Amino acid sequence: MRKKKALITGVSGQDGAYLSNFLLKKNYIVTGGERNKKKRNFWRLKELSIEKKIKIIHFDLLDKKLIIKTIKNGDYDEIYNLAAQSYVDKSFENPLYTSDVNALGVIRILEAIRKYSKKTKFYQASSSEMYGNVNTRIQDENTSFNPISPYAIAKLHAHWILGLYREAYNIFCCSGILFNHDSPLRGDDFVTKKIVRDLFKVKFNLMPCTYLGNIYAKRDWGYSADYVEAMWKMLQQKKASDFVISSGMNYTVKSFVNEAAKNIGFNLKWVGKDFNERGIDTRTKRVIVRIKKEFFRPIEINSTFGNPAKAKKLLKWTSKTKFKNLVKIMCNAELKKYE
Ligand code: NAP
Ligand code: GDP
Repeated sequence: MRKKKALITGVSGQDGAYLSNFLLKKNYIVTGGERNKKKRNFWRLKELSIEKKIKIIHFDLLDKKLIIKTIKNGDYDEIYNLAAQSYVDKSFENPLYTSDVNALGVIRILEAIRKYSKKTKFYQASSSEMYGNVNTRIQDENTSFNPISPYAIAKLHAHWILGLYREAYNIFCCSGILFNHDSPLRGDDFVTKKIVRDLFKVKFNLMPCTYLGNIYAKRDWGYSADYVEAMWKMLQQKKASDFVISSGMNYTVKSFVNEAAKNIGFNLKWVGKDFNERGIDTRTKRVIVRIKKEFFRPIEINSTFGNPAKAKKLLKWTSKTKFKNLVKIMCNAELKKYE
């Protein structure tokens, strides 16, 4: 039987690595798009021991000609667009670049599919950030969007235009509205990875304490290795549609700190208020967490909380790895770096 062919853009990222691993196990021929010709960054693929099993090609969401050539000649059954300028903070510094990559880049792909490869199914990495600060406590596929960052606005542009291509041109394309999902392969500047990395450094006396911003923000966190399965399941449906993918639980950043500290062997007690709030390890009396203004955002989403009922019903998918287990997985992986 002919093996299915998939193209994953952003293959060097967290989800790119886990999705490649997942599709290889499903016997796909996996091609990975990587934007940097020279400075290739495959530590995540190496971590999963799959670097040599993937065909790597040069792919840049800014390059229309390259996108057309790739899609026209690739004969892909499925394309997963995971590539993005994926940092909310950085999107405030680089709004034009963020829009070009995260919004126009998606139109470049959709146009290439429409003109040269209509049979190709397309997955787009949408984001819970598109909801912004909505009035509903829990968000699902019918909740209105109210994006409050250049990142989220660009993602929503892509999300809506994808719906247009599905309706107007009958292209099989799906948008996964994914809530935060993290892992040991998460980018270093995201809060979960920063907390785990820094607290280990504190433990091994490599830094005095970590500095955080808004520790009262709540996020619906899941495990990336679980979430990539939902991406694949969407493209196996009879009818294309969009899905919220989330754990259906949410926790504060402070809860993440508490759980990580427990795993790492600290006994954390919080004292003080606002910018003076700090976390003290009661065993050593050391202040190991402090608050710093520079890590607060110009505008903040106070809480994300997704309802994954549609995914559960139609995709038979649930977020398997619960919050405490996710923190444990991340801490255990970080500890290995010191062994
Ligand atoms: P990630 O680790 O930051 O990976 C992003 C990937 O995009 C990297 O491989 C990056 O390449 C690549 N990229 C950046 N600009 C590009 C361009 N112009 N052309 C081609 N590739 C480019 O992100 P992730 O956590 O895996 O997330 C995957 C996708 O899901 C992203 O679209 C993200 O916005 C979205 N998302 C993520 C979450 C989450 O919680 N993780 C939630 C909702 C949505 P370099 O390695 O060269 O930088
Ligand atoms: P995001 O939800 O995609 O923006 O993922 P992040 O991991 O970057 O941020 C999650 C939450 O943690 C946001 O509400 C941030 O404001 C909050 N946060 C608090 N301190 C920090 C910090 O030092 N770095 C980051 N990245 N986020 C922080």
